[in-house]
Amino acid sequence: MLVVMKSEATEQQIEAVCAEIRKQGLVPHPMPGAGRTAIGITGNAGPVNPLPYESLGGVDQCIPVTKGYKLVKREMKPEGTVLDIRGVKIGGGKTFTIIAGPCSVESIEQMRTVAKFLKNLGVGIIRGGAFKPRTSPYSFQGLEQEGLGILRQIRDEFKIATITEVMDTSTVEDVAKSADIFQIGARNMQNFSLLKRVGKERQPVFLKRGMSATMEELLMAAEYVLAGGNYQVMLCERGVRTFADHARNTLDLSVVPSVQKLCHLPILVDPSHAIGRREFVEPMARAALACGADGLMIEVTPDPDHALSDGAQTLDIAGFEALLKGLRPLAQALGRTIN
Ligand code: PEP
Ligand code: MN
Repeated sequence: MLVVMKSEATEQQIEAVCAEIRKQGLVPHPMPGAGRTAIGITGNAGPVNPLPYESLGGVDQCIPVTKGYKLVKREMKPEGTVLDIRGVKIGGGKTFTIIAGPCSVESIEQMRTVAKFLKNLGVGIIRGGAFKPRTSPYSFQGLEQEGLGILRQIRDEFKIATITEVMDTSTVEDVAKSADIFQIGARNMQNFSLLKRVGKERQPVFLKRGMSATMEELLMAAEYVLAGGNYQVMLCERGVRTFADHARNTLDLSVVPSVQKLCHLPILVDPSHAIGRREFVEPMARAALACGADGLMIEVTPDPDHALSDGAQTLDIAGFEALLKGLRPLAQALGRTIN
C-alpha cells in the first residue's frame, strides 16, 4: 500500500505515519516529491489494512497495491526521480544524459584518452568494465582489481563520475570505492542476492534489462533495490533477444514510454549492446532521444578494432563526436538539454 500525504502535510505528520507503520511491524519508505510525500509500505505478507493510517493527520489517501512492485510505481513520485551523480542530473524529462566509455577498462592510457575527450565534450560520466561477464570462459575477463584502481585514478585525475559493473556480492565493497554508480548487467538483472546487496548501499544503481526479461520483471528487479532502502536506481534498455538476426539484439524502445507511464525511475538506452554494430549506433541513439529516454550508454574507445571486448559495436573518438553533434539539434527541437 502507498500512503499519499497531503501537499501541506508537516514533517511531524509524515513521521507519525512512519511510526504507525513501524508499530504494525512493517517498514515505511517515505519518498518526498515536488508536490507531496508518498510513503510506501513493505514487510507485509498479505494486504495492508489502511484503517490505522487513513485517519492520521496529513494523510490524503491510501492506495492499495496489487502488483509485485510498489516503491517503483509512478504514484510514489509523479514528477519522476532525478538522480544527481557528482552534479550530473539524470531523469526528470528535460535532460538527456550521456554515459560513455569503453566496454572494458584496458589500460590507464586508454582511459585517460577517453576521459579527456569526454570532459572536453561536456560528458560527465565515464563507463568501463573491470569485471566482465563473458559468454566464453576463455575470453578476456577484465582487469578486475587493477581495472578498479584505474577507474579510481581517472575519477581523481579528471573529476569525472564513474560507472562499472558489479558481478557478485563479494566485490560490492571494492566496486563501491571506484564507482559512483553500480552497473548491474543484463545477465544479473535477476541475481536477487546481488540486488538485495546493492539495496543496502547508497550509491546509485544502473540496472540493465535482462535479454529476455519482461518490463514487469525489470520493474520488480528494481523493486528489490528500493525495498532495501536504496532509492537511487535507473533502468536501461539494452536490447532483447528475438528471432531477428540482423542485429546482436532487438532494441525494444517501446519499453521506454511504457516504463515511464508506470514507474518514476529514469530509463536510459544502450544502443551499442542492442544493435551490436558500430555503424548503426547513431541512428538508434537518435531514436532513443526521440522516444523520450532519459539518456544513453554508449561504448567508445580510441582503437575499437583492437578492443579486448565488444569492438564491433564500439565507436572511435571521431564517431562518438559525430554522434553527439548529430544529437544536439534534435535535442534542441525536443526542448531537451544534453549533459
Ligand atoms: C556492458 O555494458 O559492457 C555489458 C556487458 O552489458 P550487458 O549487461 O547489457 O550485456
Ligand atoms: Mn560491452
